[in-house]
Amino acid sequence: MQNDYDVLINGAGMVGGTIACILAASGMRVVVLDREAPSVQVADSYDGRASAIALGSQRVLDGAGLWEFLHEVASPILDIRVSDQQSPLSLHYDHRDFAVTPNNDGDGSGNPLGFMVENRHFRVALARAIEKLKNLTVLAPGQVVAIERDSHKVSATLDSGRVITADLVVGSDGRGSIIRRLAGIALTRHDYGQSGIVCTVDHEHPHQQVAYERFLATGPFAILPLLGNRSSIVWAEKTDLADHIMSLSDREFQEELARRFGSFLGTVTPTGPRWCYPLSLQYTGYSIDNRLVLAGDACHGMHPLAGQGLNMGLRDAAALGEVLIDAHRLGLDVGRHSVLDRYQRWRRFDNGLMMGATHMINAVFSNSIEPLRLARVLGLAVVDVIPPLKKQFMLQAMGLSGDLPKLMRGQPI
Ligand SMILES: Cc1cc2nc3c(=O)[nH]c(=O)nc-3n(C[C@H](O)[C@H](O)[C@H](O)COP(=O)(O)OP(=O)(O)OC[C@H]3O[C@@H](n4cnc5c(N)ncnc54)[C@H](O)[C@@H]3O)c2cc1C
Repeated sequence: MQNDYDVLINGAGMVGGTIACILAASGMRVVVLDREAPSVQVADSYDGRASAIALGSQRVLDGAGLWEFLHEVASPILDIRVSDQQSPLSLHYDHRDFAVTPNNDGDGSGNPLGFMVENRHFRVALARAIEKLKNLTVLAPGQVVAIERDSHKVSATLDSGRVITADLVVGSDGRGSIIRRLAGIALTRHDYGQSGIVCTVDHEHPHQQVAYERFLATGPFAILPLLGNRSSIVWAEKTDLADHIMSLSDREFQEELARRFGSFLGTVTPTGPRWCYPLSLQYTGYSIDNRLVLAGDACHGMHPLAGQGLNMGLRDAAALGEVLIDAHRLGLDVGRHSVLDRYQRWRRFDNGLMMGATHMINAVFSNSIEPLRLARVLGLAVVDVIPPLKKQFMLQAMGLSGDLPKLMRGQPI
């Protein structure tokens, strides 16, 4: 007997929602659950973060049918400047050195390095794309409370008491994944003792589409270009200091922020609420189990200093989408081990590499021991003057190197 759905996806966030769009567009029968209802209205209270979307990830979103709802709210990143505390030496990435496709402006200056998209806009784009897909069922608010798996199916009991069956369950339900916990998949976790303060600021002068990453002694401070004279701030501090900063009055907060931001963009004014996210590294040893697969933060959560967590999740989405669609077209059971193992092997190295890199960068940069400070300042300067090294770093961050899924190469599955 046929199961109710080919794939059940628990968690319709940026990763799960993208997977749902990719699979449903191919004709697979997909049901997606989220504890929060989708919304086509932009809600300021939803999530204060904006995500840096690498060029490879933008291609995934395009292939998933999401970019048409995002391109007008996406702010291009043309240059990236990385510096260490007050050092004059820095690393500069210029988009003209990474032209992989002609840009649409016709000025021959090449594509951006990536885009900034506010998460609240991403949520709306997902809701609008999902509305258009006929064979995608959305059960939200709703969540899985129990799963049983045998050799033929997954039976999931929802909080409503309803039971649905599918060939495969995907856990894309974030860092606290219930699917991971129900499957008993162990998690390794390292608390950074840091929190990420996030807010949006208005500034007097235009940012010229430049993203700044400054490594301060207590943690990285990023200034990321949004549309207009606005930037998103991701400001990592030791947790007790972050708690204190969160409790400051608006005026005191603005002063603290200005001290780190500097005056190069004129007067800087925080707008809207401040947000605070505890920062940790967490990962699972494996991302598949019997008729079950994990994607995104459910199996790898990393430090946001390089803006790569979501990008890794979107690469998972592209690889998982390709593996499942290939199997489905061949008439294979999408829940079989060999299909899932192809996904796990494909993604393991890339995710491990990025988690290791962000962990190491944070360890080396978030302290002021003099020899380390000198080494990292010189390190930035050395990378800046060795073009092949510099290029390799950026191509990796842009999601344009390695064994790329078709969507990341701009090809349909
Ligand atoms: C301060 C900060 C800044 C960041 N900036 C960037 C950046 O610039 N670029 C980048 O690539 N990454 C960035 N990241 C990382 C990025 O936010 C995450 O990697 C990304 O959100 C992971 O997406 P996800 O869909 O896997 O999980 P989530 O975004 O956590 O989504 C999980 C979804 O599952 C739902 N859910 C949760 N539990 C259940 C349940 N039990 N049942 C049903 N549904 C459930 C939730 O409602 C949500 O919709 C940043 C992170 C932080 C903390």
